[in-house]
Amino acid sequence: AKEAGRNTFRFFTPSMDARAQARSRLASELSDSLEHDEFTLVYQPVIDVPTRRTAGAEALLRWNNRYLGAISPEQFVPLAEEMGLILPIGDWLLTAACREAASWLPLVSDPLRIAINVSPRQVQQGDIAGALECALQATGLPPELVTIEITESLLLASGEEVLRKIRRIRDLGAKIAMDDFGTGYASLSYLKHFPVDILKIDRSFVAGALAGGEDARLIEAIIALGHSLGMKIVGEGVETDEQMNFLAERKCDLIQGYRFSPPLVSERFRDFVTRS
Ligand code: C2E
Ligand code: CA
Ligand code: CA
Ligand code: CA
Repeated sequence: AKEAGRNTFRFFTPSMDARAQARSRLASELSDSLEHDEFTLVYQPVIDVPTRRTAGAEALLRWNNRYLGAISPEQFVPLAEEMGLILPIGDWLLTAACREAASWLPLVSDPLRIAINVSPRQVQQGDIAGALECALQATGLPPELVTIEITESLLLASGEEVLRKIRRIRDLGAKIAMDDFGTGYASLSYLKHFPVDILKIDRSFVAGALAGGEDARLIEAIIALGHSLGMKIVGEGVETDEQMNFLAERKCDLIQGYRFSPPLVSERFRDFVTRS
């Protein structure tokens, strides 16, 4: 018993302490991060399958803290949500992304689209349509070039009010994409009720597609379903020629992934666009 007690102490308590400490350190740095200008956006090219040209980009958030270094959005976005910081960060992000996309207008003849991720809390607690409207006005970006990416979890947990907010985004002229499609529940029945323009096939399905099993069938079903509802389909996480060809043969409309480009800083994205 004594031994077990000691093991428990050694194994459990110190690591819990360390975790809690790391978390509170992260939280305290996060609360000053906007003020210190520590956020940036990177842009992952989205490729039009039939023409193989760049159709636009997805904006992805990066946090580089002066003490802790680069921290993954998978770590800090959930924390920012819990802390209520996702609203000011989200407002900053909408304007920064729209400003960047407006600066692309002179680069190419077919205007490039920008896709912006919003987290569930940003929609539930904030005025997302109002914030987007402000960002569009401030930057002069035409609304039809904007796609707002939401996740299934938002739709599952929410009622009429969220639905109204999503409709308002669309009324502005922007499009709605369902991110990570297929990873949540009840996807199919929810699609009927929600105003969605684009389905993004989660990269876990793309990764498994060539093994010849369920993932391939799932992708085919998602594409058929989306097209029958008048939606565009984006394949994510495309890393190889085989994955690209698989999706192209099945009439996936757009693709993104390391096969074409990782997310790029602003200048590199411009290079990518003007060279391709
Ligand atoms: P997501 O929206 O599904 O974003 C796609 C993630 O896949 C990005 O990771 C991207 O860098 C990565 N990726 C792109 N191509 C490939 C590929 O070929 N292979 C692999 N393995 N990965 C690829 P990232 O930037 O680390 O973002 C992770 C998640 O963090 C995002 O998933 C999104 O849920 C969240 N996130 C990122 N930026 C924002 C933001 O601005 N706002 C909000 N609310 N969430 C964000
Ligand atoms: Ca996304
Ligand atoms: Ca995704
Ligand atoms: Ca994701």
